Amino acid sequence: ALTARKLLKSLSGSYWIDGHELSISASIGIALHPLGSQVAADVLKQADTAMYRAKHAGRNDLHFFAPAMQVSIDQRLQLQNELRQAMQRGQMHLVFQPQLELACGRVAGVEVLVRWQHPEHGEIMPGQFIALAEETGLIQDLGNWVLEQACDALARWLPSWPQLVVAVNLSPRELRQVGCVERISACLQRHRLPANALELEITEGVLLEDVDQCIANMQALRALGVHFAIDDFGTGYSSLTYLKRLPLDRLKIDRSFTQDMAGDSNGLMLVQTILVIARNLGLQCIAEGIESHTQLEILRQHGCSLGQGYYFSRPLAEAEFLEWMKAHRLWASDVIDPVQL
Ligand code: C2E
Ligand code: MG
Ligand code: MG
Repeated sequence: ALTARKLLKSLSGSYWIDGHELSISASIGIALHPLGSQVAADVLKQADTAMYRAKHAGRNDLHFFAPAMQVSIDQRLQLQNELRQAMQRGQMHLVFQPQLELACGRVAGVEVLVRWQHPEHGEIMPGQFIALAEETGLIQDLGNWVLEQACDALARWLPSWPQLVVAVNLSPRELRQVGCVERISACLQRHRLPANALELEITEGVLLEDVDQCIANMQALRALGVHFAIDDFGTGYSSLTYLKRLPLDRLKIDRSFTQDMAGDSNGLMLVQTILVIARNLGLQCIAEGIESHTQLEILRQHGCSLGQGYYFSRPLAEAEFLEWMKAHRLWASDVIDPVQL
């Protein structure tokens, strides 16, 4: 550790090269030997793992390898292999969450969310495997499967709810893919769905990479009639200029803002700001994560047009969702408050 600290110290600082001041720092990983049944390659791998820990912890530091780190790497590798098989083995399913017009309570759309029913670990939420699927490229197959199932479901529901729009989360990795436009439009045609029955939700943060390819594909899909929403709006780094370049219909206010509105924090001010940005850009707003009547009232007062959240309904399996829709239709025309149901 002492040697490593000396190395860090001697490396850090800035250098003048060609008139530019360049700063460098280092991250150091250290593995001990002998440790367990290590062979030479293990020592290097372990040092590498420890170095990534140092980087994650903010860089310019050193980190020792600990066997617990290997456990989390092994778990991740195992999950990755299992994810590969999960789709073929029918372990994935979809749940549906209604999106409502806040003024009248009409159901405008339904967001599709994927779940993984793992034979040993039970239900795994997307937060635990979407990033992994993106890193490994499995997101293409997963995304195809989700879209196919979502369109299939909507085609079944449209006769009863002709105005319903299905909102599917699309990974920016899928959006950048060559052939993405053809794939989506072929899926719509296969299920005889009008393109304006589909909305694609794209998370703000990751959209920024390779923007031009994303925009080109978005424009082509938009020309067909597909709608676009920016998901988790306010948590990424979109500049306003860049927002104007995207063919968008909606901003989805991230649930952290919705949940921060009551009380004296800055939450309400941020929500108001997002509503103004949306209005000036000619976009609709949908608030996610509405959990209470107070939140609903505040959002309505400030002119947020749409919303979704546990207050109306949790994401539900298809049969339960259809039950919810039938029950909701009975009272949506005059009341919106589920408490009065
Ligand atoms: P998201 O698209 O922002 O989805 C909203 C998340 O908030 C969902 O979590 C939903 O279950 C949860 N939620 C809804 N209402 C409430 C509420 O009132 N309170 C709270 N606390 N939470 C609420 P979930 O299903 O775990 O999904 C997490 C994220 O995973 C999604 O965030 C989306 O980015 C991603 N994801 C889900 N399904 C897919 C998919 O099929 N494809 C891709 N690419 N990403 C997906
Ligand atoms: Mg979403
Ligand atoms: Mg979101």
